[in-house]
Amino acid sequence: CGIAGYIGIKPAKEILLDSLSRLEYRGYDSCGIAVRGSPLTIFKGTSRVGHLRLQSPELGGTIGIGHTRWATHGEVSAANAHPHTDCHHKIAVVHNGIISNYRELRKLLKDEGHTFRSETDSEVLPHLVEKFYRGDIESALRQALGLIEGTYAVLAVTEHEDRVVAARNGSPLVVGVCSDGFIFASDVLGIGAQAESIVYLEDGDIAICDKRQIKITNEGKTVQRIPSSVHLNA
Ligand code: GLU
Repeated sequence: CGIAGYIGIKPAKEILLDSLSRLEYRGYDSCGIAVRGSPLTIFKGTSRVGHLRLQSPELGGTIGIGHTRWATHGEVSAANAHPHTDCHHKIAVVHNGIISNYRELRKLLKDEGHTFRSETDSEVLPHLVEKFYRGDIESALRQALGLIEGTYAVLAVTEHEDRVVAARNGSPLVVGVCSDGFIFASDVLGIGAQAESIVYLEDGDIAICDKRQIKITNEGKTVQRIPSSVHLNA
């Protein structure tokens, strides 16, 4: 139901948890974060965001993604909480929305040897990204989304790259441009006061971000999304 992400020079964990707590008003049944490091560290469960903060240790990583879930496919459980990962825990994905053709994709991936750990529709995403991954998370996510039917706001990170990739189709996703990096959220309230401007992604957009810049494409072509100035009383 809520998505948060960060790439920059500050420790990601606190920024993700602050963002997720600002999104709590939307309601959720479970939550989780993934922080890039070697290995990728994931904390998730059916607790509140505040408990997740207490349970998770100090993490130095400055890239991460987070999620508050409103279950649509699969019961409320720690295994079904996001982020979800590929077979080798190298790729983490958070997803808002519904993947309507997940049964076919799950079968195809299982037939190819992928092992699933949850009952969610969302888990096909990290496995599809793994299937297509050749060192470029953006290209792998683009290929994965080409097979998806349904609605999504998605963020993905991998242990192998200093980047975050974001995509939306039918579910909102915004990017806050900050002096120290970029914050992603499913709702402008998740961005907080540190952003200098906000970029609203549009349906079909795929945004790839490193610590310094964001590049947005739609149907394979680079597009400009004019940043809006921020008027938040955060
Ligand atoms: N369909 C996904 C699930 O049930 C995502 C739900 C959401 O948007 O929070 O896990």
